[in-house]
Amino acid sequence: MANQLKQILIVEDEQAIADNIAFAVETEHMEPVHAATAGAAEERLGERSIDLIVLDVGLPDESGFDFCRRIRAKSDVPIIFLTARESEIDRIVGLELGADDYMAKPFSPRELTARIRAILRRSGQAVPMSGHARPEPVFAVDEKTKTIVYKGAPLDLSRYEFRMLELMIRHPGQVFSRGQLMDHAWEEPDASYDRTVDTHIKTLRSKLRNVDPECACLQTRRGFGYCLRVGE
Ligand code: CA
Repeated sequence: MANQLKQILIVEDEQAIADNIAFAVETEHMEPVHAATAGAAEERLGERSIDLIVLDVGLPDESGFDFCRRIRAKSDVPIIFLTARESEIDRIVGLELGADDYMAKPFSPRELTARIRAILRRSGQAVPMSGHARPEPVFAVDEKTKTIVYKGAPLDLSRYEFRMLELMIRHPGQVFSRGQLMDHAWEEPDASYDRTVDTHIKTLRSKLRNVDPECACLQTRRGFGYCLRVGE
């Protein structure tokens, strides 16, 4: 992987909470670094290049507020406060601490990692959504709304077109005869209507080409039928 994992310093003296956050951070493909005290956090900051700090307000050796002030004097690393009390939220919001966000306990670790991502994105340090950069799917089928999205653009399809294309998307590369397509798409298939399939394939092609003029994925296999080839 080209991107180095983002290092998230978790400054929290309650082990169970720190573990929860660390697990959520790891799940999101970032690297948790734990410190149970402000002193330990300061050491970690000296040792590593930390991308963001999750900072508990109530630490045993120093208040999170004071720690934040000291950090801010020398660094603008993003900071998210964790608070246990309403009065602390008032202070974070009211004081010029330079915090980027805050969360009140109890909080959802997933909500916290969503905010971590948002802040890293804002500060131009995008985190890949997963270990592998997954390309957008060429086709996406939404069964509920009966829509098919092609390269990000929803297609305006008739019922028959939807059913034929959906079948081919589910079985990329497989060749379907006109009869098979008709059986799948029409409630009352009629073998004499082979040309109907051809007509719908033709309009499907032109709808795909409205999105991508180069689209050649809906292929004719002479003597057999049609198939969908993606990513060639
Ligand atoms: Ca605490």
